[in-house]
Amino acid sequence: MFRYFLGYTYFILFLLFSTSCASKKPFAETNKVYEKQVDSLSEVIKQPLPAPQLMAAEEIPIPDIEGKRKDLEWVGTVNFNMRKPNFVIIHHTAQDSIQQTLNTFTLSRTQVSAHYVIDKKGKVYQLLNDYLRAWHAGNSRWGSVTDLNSVSLGIEMDNNGIEPYTDAQIENLLGLLDTLKTTYNIPTENFIGHGDIAPGRKVDPGINFPWKRLAEKGFGLWYDDTLQTAPTSFNPLDGLRILGYDTRNPPEAIKAFKRHYIQTEVTDEWNPFALDVLYNLYLKKTAL
Ligand SMILES: [Zn+2]
Repeated sequence: MFRYFLGYTYFILFLLFSTSCASKKPFAETNKVYEKQVDSLSEVIKQPLPAPQLMAAEEIPIPDIEGKRKDLEWVGTVNFNMRKPNFVIIHHTAQDSIQQTLNTFTLSRTQVSAHYVIDKKGKVYQLLNDYLRAWHAGNSRWGSVTDLNSVSLGIEMDNNGIEPYTDAQIENLLGLLDTLKTTYNIPTENFIGHGDIAPGRKVDPGINFPWKRLAEKGFGLWYDDTLQTAPTSFNPLDGLRILGYDTRNPPEAIKAFKRHYIQTEVTDEWNPFALDVLYNLYLKKTAL
């Protein structure tokens, strides 16, 4: 009887222990991996200066991961700090739950990540230091910038791609954007969507995303209520290009623009209203 009781007690203790581990710190392990990777990156930055040595021209190496060329004499300046993000790219997760998204971003085989994730209740998760490069933009282009990951912060909205965004989610996104804009001095027009920088490949954050509401708070451009008619001499592809769109595939660039600014109709055809909107934004962008 006593042995039975002891066994039962151990069983209960085991249950308590295992459930508390599972529920308290679900990402404890990946948090450790994160810290290890940050440590190894900071070690790279702290490497001692290489001894200067001369090399034949054909042997001159490209800068290594430390950013130092061993063939040149190193004189470390004392005036520097970290590079800052200059864009914010907004995404939707296209997944069914926040848990699924957090799991995706903490599995190395997925090779995707973002700096922040906002769930439907408005809870904001931070996954990466703002100064580090997340893998959210992929093959993308905006104006002449072709490596958006290097210059941007990625924010993922928990949304399956069809449903509307919740008020709490947008409210807390606006709070986060306010902090980021002030901290890094990010220009108003540099708050854009994944679909804007990857036409034909991505559509997020989709037609339900309230870009107008964001623009009213100073995040992203929006058109005026009263629109001037676009002159016949206005070339819409030039307009899209000036805004930043990659116009190598014109129908996809038009759809990306309409998904962001028109939203009620996403085709690759121009209509007078869409043209006037584009012309209005083109004038704003050229006046910046
Ligand atoms: Zn995306």
